[in-house]
Amino acid sequence: MTRTPPVPLKAVLLNTPDIELWPGGLLRARSNGDARILSRARRVLRRKRDGTYLAADLAEGIQPLVPRLHREPGLDAALDLLDASPLHARNGIDHVGQLPLHRLQDRLDALGVDAEGYAQRTGLGLVAEPDWLAFAGFDRYRRALWLRIDAARAWLRMREAAVRDGIVLEAISGYRSHDYQLGIFVRKLARGLSVDEILRVNAAPGFSEHHGGCALDIGTPDEPPAEESFEATPAFGWLQANADGHGFAMSYPRGNPRGIVYEPWHWRFAG
Ligand SMILES: [Zn+2]
Repeated sequence: MTRTPPVPLKAVLLNTPDIELWPGGLLRARSNGDARILSRARRVLRRKRDGTYLAADLAEGIQPLVPRLHREPGLDAALDLLDASPLHARNGIDHVGQLPLHRLQDRLDALGVDAEGYAQRTGLGLVAEPDWLAFAGFDRYRRALWLRIDAARAWLRMREAAVRDGIVLEAISGYRSHDYQLGIFVRKLARGLSVDEILRVNAAPGFSEHHGGCALDIGTPDEPPAEESFEATPAFGWLQANADGHGFAMSYPRGNPRGIVYEPWHWRFAG
């Protein structure tokens, strides 16, 4: 039995280019020391590049979780956000802004990824990250699932409707940051793979629909994640009949005009 941590009401993930601000109760403790701090933290600053917990915002103040926190790139932007009233409260609950793309473009250049050529070849464009995301329940792996607020509401409604029809839909993966995808590239380049070899398996950082918070990989219990065999399940049949009514569409159907590999598990909220 996995114990579900208490979920803060209206939990949101506040996003900056380098650092995410998490509700403490939704992060996994990696040590006993972590567990004590995370349970009391109003917010935890998490480095996007590698997931390191940088600092906790406790009632008595900021507790550093790494040495030399003050030298952490992007720290000022994250602390400013901590002090400001929550974006979603300040701007009206449904207002979602976007983070700038220039930092991503610099890093793609540094990695030797030809973003323009990739965009032309695939017909895909750069996808900006939202400046905050809403908690949309847990995924198959008991990780917090983050989506744009509109997509989160639609997903939770659709999942409930499926249950009423005897179908269990599981989220495999929702929002993923540019840094997450860049990290995959950095690790594979370090292992000696070329950019072209990596691009055969992984989308170029910045070009995935998952960065925008509206895309969702969907699975069903006892099925392997992100496999074409998903199309033979009752869950997929249910989605084909009902997803449209909940605002979801399959992004890459079989024989799609862009020539992108068929992904029956990948759906996006289009409203
Ligand atoms: Zn996907």
